Amino acid sequence: MWRRIFSTSTSTSTSAPAAFTSKGKKWDALIIGGGHNGLTAAAYLARSGLSVAVLERRHLIGGAAVTEELVPGFKFSRCSYLQSLLRPSVIRELELGRHGLKLLKRNPSSFTPCLDGRYLLLGPDAELNHSEISKFSKQDAEAYPRYENQLQRFCSFMDYLLDSPTPEVSHKVLSFTDRMRDKLQKSIFWAHCFRRAIFLWQKDMVDFMDLLLSPASKVLNNWFETDVLKATLATDAVIGTMGTVHTPGSGYVLLHHVMGETDGDRGIWSYVEGGMGAVSSAISNAAREAGAHIVTNAEVAQLMINDDSGAVKGVVLADGTEVHSSVVLSNATPYRTFMELVPQSVLPEEFRCAISNLDYSSGTTKINIAVDRLPQFQCCNPSIQEAGPQHVGTIHIGSESMEEIDLSYRDALSGFPSQRPLIEMTIPSVLDKTISPPGKHVINLFVQYTPYRPSVGSWEDLAFRESFAQRCFSLIDEYAPGFSSSVIDYDMLTPVDLEREFGLTVAQVPFQWVDPHLSSSQASQLWWREHISWCNGLGFTLLNAAC
Ligand SMILES: Cc1cc2nc3c(=O)[nH]c(=O)nc-3n(C[C@H](O)[C@H](O)[C@H](O)COP(=O)(O)OP(=O)(O)OC[C@H]3O[C@@H](n4cnc5c(N)ncnc54)[C@H](O)[C@@H]3O)c2cc1C
Repeated sequence: MWRRIFSTSTSTSTSAPAAFTSKGKKWDALIIGGGHNGLTAAAYLARSGLSVAVLERRHLIGGAAVTEELVPGFKFSRCSYLQSLLRPSVIRELELGRHGLKLLKRNPSSFTPCLDGRYLLLGPDAELNHSEISKFSKQDAEAYPRYENQLQRFCSFMDYLLDSPTPEVSHKVLSFTDRMRDKLQKSIFWAHCFRRAIFLWQKDMVDFMDLLLSPASKVLNNWFETDVLKATLATDAVIGTMGTVHTPGSGYVLLHHVMGETDGDRGIWSYVEGGMGAVSSAISNAAREAGAHIVTNAEVAQLMINDDSGAVKGVVLADGTEVHSSVVLSNATPYRTFMELVPQSVLPEEFRCAISNLDYSSGTTKINIAVDRLPQFQCCNPSIQEAGPQHVGTIHIGSESMEEIDLSYRDALSGFPSQRPLIEMTIPSVLDKTISPPGKHVINLFVQYTPYRPSVGSWEDLAFRESFAQRCFSLIDEYAPGFSSSVIDYDMLTPVDLEREFGLTVAQVPFQWVDPHLSSSQASQLWWREHISWCNGLGFTLLNAAC
């Protein structure tokens, strides 16, 4: 089964009124894409008094933060399914609570069942963590709070970077006053960074650098001895990537996933009542209240550039409609924006080369499932049918050791969907009663690794897709017998579907560190900017006269 029924959604949408394209209308700013970052930009710009239009290619807003009712009565967060990285300042300033955002904290936050009958629960409760880890190793139970404290200190360091505009290198010829202002702003930024670095002691600073650059396996092996604990923590280091626990830099991905918070509680991920579309819906409500105009079914085909000045003057939609503005922000990926939407002749070759070398590879498949009962894990008490602590947080299937994660990565590296995929299972309907009929549940499977182009077979082939989905269900059956028979229906998004349906860039672009136009420091700078803008709640590309 591969469902494609677009019936209802919790994200409201608006279609184009005549005023939107009326002759001579010039907007102060246009935003390509109504993902949650595009909507956030729209809300802030509209609040500052500018006339803003958001142009979204899909029939509904939200991008990858979306809720869709694909099976009647079951509302799926089709891509993104957990919240913590949206910056608290954005939640506060846009008053997202008033606009309908309700976060449901998870405690415990993770559960890892083992085939030998043991399991590991972890969460915000220090006593629970100690007793759970002690089942495997007393030494690890003692080390765990120290590990968490160190990550907290690193996160505090990162907070400033996430909440500040990154210093830009301007290619424009600046006046003397603007040059001085620019220097002052950069000095303030670096002074703040330096002050924060001093507050991290020298050992912490060395460990911080090590975490950013090392493989997660090295970091976790330094701290702990228990396989299941290391594997549970290591999934945060590989999630969404086409990398393994031994990939240099995976330590940073680990940090990235503990940087967030829910209502001030660091590292706590929450479900969103109504699904992730409710985040986009709340932001769009704030944007609309401030006067922003949001248009769906409006795919931007190209930017219009002034031949003489090289400045942007608006966009052309896929249906040929021209929309005018001298400021355009793009919520599409940098690859789509600069390689597909901006006319190639206006960009410097070096810049295009840098963009084309961004690594977008991801071996992620998302499977959204409607089930008629909760999975009963053999390592808990399977005769009790009600929801227990094992159902509340992220359930790690197929990751009892870091070697297991690495093996499943290696399959995909050779071009095959993993034999024993790495699965992060969540059951939001345990806490959110608004997304499924009573007694029935919505299950998200975030699955790795699935190559974009398998060596044998194709994601276009229904039987090939179905056999991979069944492989995932059978793996879950090993831990929770009978799971497969609880499946009512499901929706499966492979890397190819994510690209086609949501406009993401997923294709495996090889990352060339040695490149005639791009030094490794430039490449890593781009990598950093890419990853930091991903999570700062305002990740977009601004195209204006500098284009
Ligand atoms: C399967 C999956 C699971 C994830 N899980 C999580 C999670 O649990 N928690 C988390 O924090 N993050 C998660 N993420 C990441 C998160 O979803 C993204 O970081 C976030 O959605 C990015 O938001 P955005 O607004 O920047 O871009 P997007 O959500 O990608 O939005 C971009 C928008 O631009 C539109 N667009 C593109 N091109 C055009 C065009 N030419 N014209 C008009 N519109 C256009 C697209 O249709 C889309 O609506 C997940 C991602 C995926 C793919």
